[in-house]
Amino acid sequence: MQAKQDPCCQPGLMHPDQAISQLLDQVRTVQDTEVIQLSHSLGRVLAEDLAATLDLPPFNNSAMDGYAFRLADLTQHSALKLIGYSFAGHAFSGDYQPGSCVRIMTGAPVPDCYDTVQMQEKTQADGEMITIEPTHDTGENIRARGEEMRAGAPVLKTGTQIGAAEMGVLATIGVNQVRVYRQLTVAFFSTGDELRPVGSELAPGQIYDSNRYSILGMLQQAGVDWVDLGVIQDDPEAIRAAFQKAASQADLVLTSGGVSVGDADFTKQILSEEGEITFWRMAIKPGKPFAFGRLGKAVFCGLPGNPVSSMVTFYKIVTPLLNKMRGLPQRPPLRLSVPLAKAIYKHPGRVEYQRGILSRNEAGELEVTTTGSQGSGMLTSMSLANCFIILPQMQGDTPAGSLVDVEPFHGILS
Ligand code: AMP
Ligand code: MG
Repeated sequence: MQAKQDPCCQPGLMHPDQAISQLLDQVRTVQDTEVIQLSHSLGRVLAEDLAATLDLPPFNNSAMDGYAFRLADLTQHSALKLIGYSFAGHAFSGDYQPGSCVRIMTGAPVPDCYDTVQMQEKTQADGEMITIEPTHDTGENIRARGEEMRAGAPVLKTGTQIGAAEMGVLATIGVNQVRVYRQLTVAFFSTGDELRPVGSELAPGQIYDSNRYSILGMLQQAGVDWVDLGVIQDDPEAIRAAFQKAASQADLVLTSGGVSVGDADFTKQILSEEGEITFWRMAIKPGKPFAFGRLGKAVFCGLPGNPVSSMVTFYKIVTPLLNKMRGLPQRPPLRLSVPLAKAIYKHPGRVEYQRGILSRNEAGELEVTTTGSQGSGMLTSMSLANCFIILPQMQGDTPAGSLVDVEPFHGILS
């Protein structure tokens, strides 16, 4: 492992990519599935392969408002005779006559006797006689039956997350109920004697419990059900009771705080009594300490207490674990290579997830800069950022203009 060989790495730190691939081997996709209404399927993960039940589109239809006709007729007739109409939902039912055309609207069926549509702007009506500018080819402006796909062709696969587009695609093939993996439940709590819930007064030395809210937000974005077990004091029996309660009702138990070297002992001791626990020291900044284990049937993840560290480890470790458990295939986040607007100072040794702002400079080119101070307790750095700047483990200072890897916080339409 690179971390052990290089003199500037702290020994025993595991590269986060290696940690996640080992942890992924230890979790499984939920087995249970359920059938739900399409209207309630946003964010859920398909547990069945779906094929087209009909040709798409199901019939030849017009891509334009205009006139449908036979292209060959234009060589013999200077104007075509209007013999009817085809509206969306109301097909023309008459018979073909040589030298004829029908008025047609977008989405309306193209009568079988015609092979071309010309847009209205390229036609001229004089009573019933329509002068039509010839198109280049037959079939122009017609969306042909089955051109998108044929009945029986695969449309969506098991493991697809249903987004707005998928809801529309499912409706296109007439599906109103879908089989999805059952919803995961995550139980979470914060640990620390210094933490007070929002809405209460702070005594000297106390701080508000912010992690529970950033974690709640990330769980909601991850599309799982959640159980909020509050703040638990650094007290062995309180922690034990919280672990038991959490494990009895969740697929994954998530805690923040109490996994760093100073205060890990309680958590470690109780978790090893109640289940299994491994402490990980990852070569990642922020977020070095991380705990993983099992509590009964539940998977356990212990995030570090520093607010940015807990978000970074959730992003890097918990998100892929949850994705696998929910039935999603592993898909690395979108990474861009972008020039740095200002130098970054870094010691080699850990992969750094700096908070970045991705924007366009005056020349219209993408560039990225950090949000400023990168303390692992400074949560505003996360809210100012729109991306992570990921600096490799062995990288040192990085001058302005260098290309750096960037992972935007939000993908298109996600
Ligand atoms: P710990 O991981 O418990 O050693 O905590 C590391 C740092 O994160 C300390 O400064 C804690 O006060 C802080 N911290 C721990 N849990 C939370 C939380 N839920 N909300 C805000 N800060 C926290
Ligand atoms: Mg603590």
